[in-house]
Amino acid sequence: MSSNKIIIITAPSGAGKTSIVHYLLKKYPEKLSFSVSATTRKAREEEVNGRDYYFMREDEFKTKIHNNEFVEWEMVYEGKYYGTLQSEIERIWSTGKTPVLDIDVKGALRIHEQYPDCSISIFIQPPSVTELKKRLESRGTETTESLAARVNKAAYELSFKDHFNYTVINSNLQNACAETEQLVNAYLRS
Ligand code: 5GP
Repeated sequence: MSSNKIIIITAPSGAGKTSIVHYLLKKYPEKLSFSVSATTRKAREEEVNGRDYYFMREDEFKTKIHNNEFVEWEMVYEGKYYGTLQSEIERIWSTGKTPVLDIDVKGALRIHEQYPDCSISIFIQPPSVTELKKRLESRGTETTESLAARVNKAAYELSFKDHFNYTVINSNLQNACAETEQLVNAYLRS
């Protein structure tokens, strides 16, 4: 029975967690479903509202905080809110699938605290902060300031890795995907 489980994938930005999450979702579309977060940041060119995020204005986001609609929320970057809606988790459970959350370290800790018995948390570790900076640069989505903010935050977030159930080191994406898949499979069978 997988409908009351939660899979949390967390990592510093740029560690490759989104690629790993996409891999899992593509491989197990009948079992897993991406948990679409709400955010106040602007959509990137290729992003679609309702698929990648529920993009919303800050006042809408704050109303939802006020109404206790979030399982967790964070100001992940200066002025930009991100959060997991309770309704999203329930929507996915109601389809009989398991939600996969791609969220930041603090948010992941909070969800894990709230669902200690029905969640697995996997921390994706970049091989080094230097490598992570290179990856973010080559992605080309960051300004000088946002790149620096993400790198600083990553160094801090690495210190939390021991709080999660498992750590997967992403030196090689294929291996990291396979390792994460094994953990998820074992969890879904448990
Ligand atoms: P990005 O702006 O690159 O899409 O995401 C920035 C960071 O916010 C990533 O680490 C991503 O995992 C995290 N994030 C996305 N959705 C949520 C959420 O609902 N809650 C929290 N706490 N972090 C999130």
